[in-house]
Amino acid sequence: MKLNIKDKFNKKLPSDPILENSRRQVSEACFSYVTPKQTSKAELLHVSPEMLENLGLTEADVRTKDFLNIFTGNQVQENTKPYAMCYGGHQFGNWAGQLGDGRAINLCEVEHNGKNWALQLKGAGETPYSRTADGLAVLRSSIREYLCSEAMFHLGVPTTRALSLALSGDEVLRDFMYDGNSAYEKGAIVCRTAESFLRFGNYQIFAARQDEKNLTKLVDYTIKYHFPHLGEPSKNSYLAFFKEVANRTLKMIIHWQRVGFVHGVMNTDNMSILGLTIDYGPYGWLEGYDYGWTPNTTDRQHKRYRYGNQPNIGLWNLLQLANALYPLIEEAEPLEAILNQYKKDFDKRQLDMMRSKLGFLMKDEKDQLLIQDLEDNLHLTETDMTIFFRDLSNVKKEEPSKGLKIVYDAFYKPDEVVGNIEKRWGDWFATYTSRLQKELLSDEERRLKMNQVNPKYVLRNYMAQLAIDDADNGDYKLIGELFQMLKKPYDEQPQYQKWFVKRPDWARHKVGCSMLSCSS
Ligand code: AMP
Ligand code: MG
Repeated sequence: MKLNIKDKFNKKLPSDPILENSRRQVSEACFSYVTPKQTSKAELLHVSPEMLENLGLTEADVRTKDFLNIFTGNQVQENTKPYAMCYGGHQFGNWAGQLGDGRAINLCEVEHNGKNWALQLKGAGETPYSRTADGLAVLRSSIREYLCSEAMFHLGVPTTRALSLALSGDEVLRDFMYDGNSAYEKGAIVCRTAESFLRFGNYQIFAARQDEKNLTKLVDYTIKYHFPHLGEPSKNSYLAFFKEVANRTLKMIIHWQRVGFVHGVMNTDNMSILGLTIDYGPYGWLEGYDYGWTPNTTDRQHKRYRYGNQPNIGLWNLLQLANALYPLIEEAEPLEAILNQYKKDFDKRQLDMMRSKLGFLMKDEKDQLLIQDLEDNLHLTETDMTIFFRDLSNVKKEEPSKGLKIVYDAFYKPDEVVGNIEKRWGDWFATYTSRLQKELLSDEERRLKMNQVNPKYVLRNYMAQLAIDDADNGDYKLIGELFQMLKKPYDEQPQYQKWFVKRPDWARHKVGCSMLSCSS
């Protein structure tokens, strides 16, 4: 197996001089060296062919002992020095101090086809940042991260990726619902990949410790290797850096809103500096369209990270990053201007995104109202987001009265769609079809366009759970099937039609389907 290893992070940035793997505060360093834990009986469950190719590897490599050993942490590659990164973060709105890679260990960076890939094992044992936990990951959360991150990539959403999913062969003790009922679960390791795993929290930790020297080193490093078009270090390039992070963050969140993805834990340590979706934990997919929904039971009370609040939280998190970068810029106004611009851009891009979901290429001043009415209607009775928008593309602009029937499948309680609710939908379809008549596209052209932004297949919460239940029983076929299907989320794929259905009733209140905790 030949990887083109080009380590930078652990070569250019200050390391923790202490080599002992004990839990502690690590200051004046970006990372600590640590060796992954040996596993009892590692077994590969799935490998992403696309990620293999991105790294310049082949299927033949997958069959080698080296591959299994390296990507489960049992063997350290020559000329590499694995490490865990130091970062802090705001959790649920409060500064939480040092967090860091508590159960992630970076193996190396690889360059292939002009791209940089950091490779990181999740669940390969403890690090100085593990605090009170064990540094391990369970199979259920590893399947969820593995399947979802690759699915998000194929949906066109900026995200970290995943190379492999493996069982460690070890058992891991978890209190899944934080209710005092601990049980052993199968341990697993995902090898995940990204251009970089740097988070807002990597910068925040230095700012919190008033360590301007290392803050500057890290920002300069980030610009040099990940934002090289911004030029040499200066106040201007720092501002341009912040502006680009704000833009990328917004772009990512608008994609989440488009496909109905709810991250669940948008703490600042889970915000990638590259604007990638990172740290797949208690995330979920909207089934009923509901601005107030969050899958994360830890957030049940305040619903800080609910679907409709994600764009605002993006802004709040950027404000924390601005505070962290302030010592390098020493001027609040230009930072504030960038944050204010985020708000303006958000309204505009959200509107454009919704226009694309509705098949509008032109802009009409009444679109905002039409979209507001649609969103109000979608909340009247539980309405499946994915099915609604996918079926909507079948509406004919000359046939307003057929609209409701075309999306009827999306209603969880069709018997509620009567009286005033039925009338409001009738009115909306009348407005929508007359708006469509202003467009130049034919019905068929519009259908094709809409089907490129409204996915047919997403990783519904219950689907991941079915794959997990099977895997717990040693059957991994469904992981493969979902992986395959989610590679082409916008295609019809009639062979997978059975997955184009509303959430089944059994999954409505089931743990793992609609309720997830941070325990993983
Ligand atoms: P998360 O909620 O996954 O974003 O994690 C928040 C912090 O807790 C990060 O610093 C993680 O590395 C750490 N953490 C979460 N789970 C574990 C675990 N099982 N072992 C060690 N650290 C963990
Ligand atoms: Mg995290």
